[in-house]
Amino acid sequence: MPPPARPPMTIDQKVRKPLKELDVKGVGDIQRLFFELSQTLDGEANSLVIKGARSEAEREQICKTFRNRWLGRKSGLIAQADENWLKTAGTDYKRDAGRFFNALRAQVEEKVTALPAEIRLHVGVDAVFTDAGSPDLTLPGHRRPRGSVHPVTRVMREIEDIFLGLGFSIESGPEIESVYYNFEALNIPESHPARDDWDTLYVDSQTLLRTHTSPVQIRAMEKHGAPLHILCPGKCYRHDNPDSTHATMFHQVEGLAVDTDISFADLKGTLDFFARKFFGEKIRTNFFPSFFPFTEPSGDLAISCVFCEGEGCRVCKESGWVEVMGCGMVHPEVLRHGGIDPERYSGWAFGLGVERFAMMKYDINDIQLFHQGDVRFLEQF
Ligand SMILES: [Zn+2]
Repeated sequence: MPPPARPPMTIDQKVRKPLKELDVKGVGDIQRLFFELSQTLDGEANSLVIKGARSEAEREQICKTFRNRWLGRKSGLIAQADENWLKTAGTDYKRDAGRFFNALRAQVEEKVTALPAEIRLHVGVDAVFTDAGSPDLTLPGHRRPRGSVHPVTRVMREIEDIFLGLGFSIESGPEIESVYYNFEALNIPESHPARDDWDTLYVDSQTLLRTHTSPVQIRAMEKHGAPLHILCPGKCYRHDNPDSTHATMFHQVEGLAVDTDISFADLKGTLDFFARKFFGEKIRTNFFPSFFPFTEPSGDLAISCVFCEGEGCRVCKESGWVEVMGCGMVHPEVLRHGGIDPERYSGWAFGLGVERFAMMKYDINDIQLFHQGDVRFLEQF
């Protein structure tokens, strides 16, 4: 009989261990640890807000306990994260770990300050509990089956890890975006068919649900300037009729590299490396010319069919190749919109659909399966 699986560590246990005991292999793992702590913070604060308090004294006590748990001088979670994670991050990770830590501490301080006003007093709730009698302690407990990482998240993390390993960092941006960032700054003029109502979900005439992750490129260029090597994973929305390959909400990963002396060869080399890391060393890549308003020249990256290994089959329409993403050299106009001098810098970019990658990787034939929340599908991952 195999040994029983060890239960997963709680965040309270993790924060008391130095990074090297947490199997941290890269900056992505550190970022995830801090993210887990930040999620815990939100979850705990939310449940306190939902519960409320029955008296002023109880509210004060709740807030004090919460403050001590997070900001306590020695055993508070922030102090522990400082001691065990930040101080044990090697020189390679120090800067990033410091950034994650500072962001988290600011978030904690904000929550601690806001909490007293958010917890509302409600009186008379005691009666409900006591009148109902004591709970029957002999009844069996509820078991909650453990979940697993969603295949889309899993694939997104895998893509992130490959690019983090190449020195890229992760950027995010708003899903509710302005027309300027989603279209104009990306050199998509008003006459472009992508701006038609059929594709875009508008909130009002100047606001929309972003149709791609590309607006993050502009935001990142404005924020950081050049040189820049970033990856932007996130949700996108289109006014598409749902079928086996279209969904109104889907995930993209966008990549952008801006530096002096960047050429199409860098783009090809990087994407070839990425495709082989993701799909396996046997994969071959090929670039076909294409058109996008925000890149010039533009291309489509095709990989040798993962199903027939290039022999030709139904999936690749007998061609042996499957197009997997769009890419190209960043259009000078786009660089200019990001505040970067196209005379001095050049860049390349790509955008890929995460669901599509997951479908190819796991041989899934219907994109709808990802979003239906059917346990019979999800528990296979
Ligand atoms: Zn094939």
